[in-house]
Amino acid sequence: MKSDIQIAQEAKMKEITEIATQIGLEEDDLELYGKYKAKVKLDVLKRLSDNSDSKLVLVTAITPTPAGEGKTTTTVGLGQALNRIGKNAVIAIREPSLGPTMGIKGGAAGGGYAQVIPMEDINLHFTGDIHAIGIAHNLLAAAIDNHIKQGNELNIDPTQITFKRAVDMNDRALRNTVVGLGGTKNGQPREDGFLITVASEIMAILCLANDLMELKDKLGKIVIGYTYDGESVTAHDLKVEGAMTALLKDAIKPNLVQTLENTPAFIHGGPFANIAHGCNSVMATKFSMKLGDITVTEAGFGADLGAEKFYNIKSRFADLKPDATVLVATIRALKMHGGVEKDNLKEENLDALDKGIENLEKHIENVNKFGVPTVVAINRFPDDTEAELELVRKKCEELGVNVALSEVWAKGGKGGEELANAVVDVLENEESKFEFLYDEKAPIKEKIETIATEIYGADGVDYSDTALSQIKKYEKQGYAEIPVCMAKTQSSISDNPNLKGRPSGFRISVKEINLSAGAGFLVVMTGPVLTMPGLPKRPSAEDIDIDADGKISGLF
Ligand code: ADP
Ligand code: MG
Repeated sequence: MKSDIQIAQEAKMKEITEIATQIGLEEDDLELYGKYKAKVKLDVLKRLSDNSDSKLVLVTAITPTPAGEGKTTTTVGLGQALNRIGKNAVIAIREPSLGPTMGIKGGAAGGGYAQVIPMEDINLHFTGDIHAIGIAHNLLAAAIDNHIKQGNELNIDPTQITFKRAVDMNDRALRNTVVGLGGTKNGQPREDGFLITVASEIMAILCLANDLMELKDKLGKIVIGYTYDGESVTAHDLKVEGAMTALLKDAIKPNLVQTLENTPAFIHGGPFANIAHGCNSVMATKFSMKLGDITVTEAGFGADLGAEKFYNIKSRFADLKPDATVLVATIRALKMHGGVEKDNLKEENLDALDKGIENLEKHIENVNKFGVPTVVAINRFPDDTEAELELVRKKCEELGVNVALSEVWAKGGKGGEELANAVVDVLENEESKFEFLYDEKAPIKEKIETIATEIYGADGVDYSDTALSQIKKYEKQGYAEIPVCMAKTQSSISDNPNLKGRPSGFRISVKEINLSAGAGFLVVMTGPVLTMPGLPKRPSAEDIDIDADGKISGLF
């Protein structure tokens, strides 16, 4: 098997204008970034407003191994397969951050014969969106310290500033910093820190905005910290939301590229899946839904996090009604849930597989709670045996859930035809009765407890004293009637990464609740979350290279 980059470099790309025309866009609708990438102008959405909305298919997964179970690969492959069987499918996925690209080996643009291209560009800077988000973020950070230096009219307490700085790199040395050193002319010294840009609230906001003015409004609502009297201070108080929005005028426009098989794909926005909602921008989803007959999209992490947030947060803010869910399962992850150690996952083990299927079963039950019909996609890996694949298929049939084998990684769209047909069958014959799991106006604790008991299967929730006082504060300040965004390990359905399978008899413990007033949700922390990753001992940056002809190698 060739490497991802070899496969990507051998693909025959069409010019992006041709891809755009294929789905009803005109050349004037595009802002070209070279021959193979384009942004689509926002006002085009008005012209398309009479088009009916496409069906919306969410790709999510069971609780993954650390390597990932292939949601992006399946999303891209399913898009390709749907086009092969004559459907007009458009893909909408997140854009990769440079931190992980330089850090851990592993693609963010699909894999094998199910990839989006030009993969070098998509993985390296792309159209500059993340850079723009970083600058808008750092403008606000600079405005805070400047305001304090210039007399602090707002009475900001430097020890209560919650808004950090941002850079799009894995750089653990910047997690905790001190700014303002060097005497009064350099400002007032205080403790600060950096986030990776994709963890910025501005990324979350950009991805949830329905238009430019809503973007500005939400940026203005960002709470940067508190005054000495405990009142919240916003970006609007610092008068910079206009400039921030100006910096984001292009970043908010969705990027159009193509897959290896020339299927149109929007790649736009990439918020974290723990402290944010973890899916591509609302703009990309909306464009895709106006231009295609079927939109295939992805949400980060397992279904307990990604699908829950896609339904309860993104669908609520963007008024989406998902039509089907594809739940990606792999033999290796199911064996892990059945108790097999990491190093033995390649060996056939039907007993462990049979036991581990309880994890899949719980995710199926969870997705059903939202009223959306489901198809389980078994993402076939090279070491899977026929007996193992058959066992999962049989189990799914017993559970009464649709199931299809997906071989898109090895065979591209051709390997996804069974899955594509199963999805089309659901879209044509099963009605989605989509509903949210909770009322956003419900008390904060009730919302958290609904997710903890219904989705995670916990017996209840315990709160730290900090969390309890934060709940009181948000209720008093009018920040209670918004959705909750759970930050939890993705390695277990519980908040303990070691509990595999279908955990029971546990309680969720809430350590802290942070306010993302601009994005419009409360971030519920059930454990430590790294908002600035580090590089591993041997970063993938050591493998990446470029030759005299500009040809890049070592990118996955
Ligand atoms: P996710 O989106 O769920 O994190 P990805 O689609 O990015 O997962 O896949 C994670 C990694 O696994 C990628 O490097 C991808 O190429 C690889 N991968 C996915 N599916 C397969 C498969 N069926 N066989 C081999 N490798 C795969
Ligand atoms: Mg992915």
